[in-house]
Amino acid sequence: MPYRSDYVRPKKSLGQHFLRDKSVARRIVDSLSDNQKTVLEIGPGTGVLTEYLLERPDINLYAIEIDRDSVPYLQQHFPLLTSHLIEGDFLQLDLDKLFQEPFAVIGNFPYNISSQIFFKVLEYRNQIPELVGMIQKEVAERIAEKPGSKTYGILSVLIQAFYDVEYLFTVHENVFVPPPKVKSAAIRFTRNDVQQLDCDEKLFTRAVKTTFNQRRKTIRNSLKPLVGNDAIAAHPFLDLRPERLSVADFVELTNFVEPYVKKQAL
Ligand code: SAH
Repeated sequence: MPYRSDYVRPKKSLGQHFLRDKSVARRIVDSLSDNQKTVLEIGPGTGVLTEYLLERPDINLYAIEIDRDSVPYLQQHFPLLTSHLIEGDFLQLDLDKLFQEPFAVIGNFPYNISSQIFFKVLEYRNQIPELVGMIQKEVAERIAEKPGSKTYGILSVLIQAFYDVEYLFTVHENVFVPPPKVKSAAIRFTRNDVQQLDCDEKLFTRAVKTTFNQRRKTIRNSLKPLVGNDAIAAHPFLDLRPERLSVADFVELTNFVEPYVKKQAL
């Protein structure tokens, strides 16, 4: 029997790896909790997840797909989706124009832009209560990681500040056409109840990025360009490396350094 990728040829530049194991597709769709109404699928491709999403009566499904070849295929095979299928780039999508209501995000994401997808989700976090997605296994592990680990990093802190992150399950490369070079994993983000961080959020993000970009240095050293050469009071975090700090610790650090931050550095 011809497979769907015989109709839509997978394109490397779009990060296309079509899932061909239906039980994995079902598991991903089942991982989305029952109380989501509006759901946006990123990159339906040939509709392996879409098929199961459309079976759920609780869901009002939208999808955005950048690939011109996939769109007619989806329109033909999923007529129920047609009026909710957007041809375009998720990263350019004006989400608050599209949805007035909260919406969940799901997808077997294009791995080459998964971090950018997450940054955009963070931007719209107050409208996105949940995300279920498949990404590169290493990235999934990193995002779900707790402080103290070598792989804990920028995305772990920024995402965990606003979402509870669960690593759901690992997926073998052979269930995709073509198989990616890396293993994959499904993850779930559930919005926590933090509305605002208890500090200047811009500075928080800046501190997280600056310190992890030089993760082998102490926090004191990597923050020097930010706080200038003024004498800075003692604080135990300054002698640590960033991977030791939890979200709450970074909030504390942000409040501690704020009075020292050179205005032009922001
Ligand atoms: N969901 C399908 C396809 C996954 S591959 C499956 O599981 O088989 C990733 C999909 O994301 C591809 O269809 C690709 O065309 C699409 N895509 C890549 N970049 C995108 C972007 N910026 N916006 C929307 N879709 C994108």
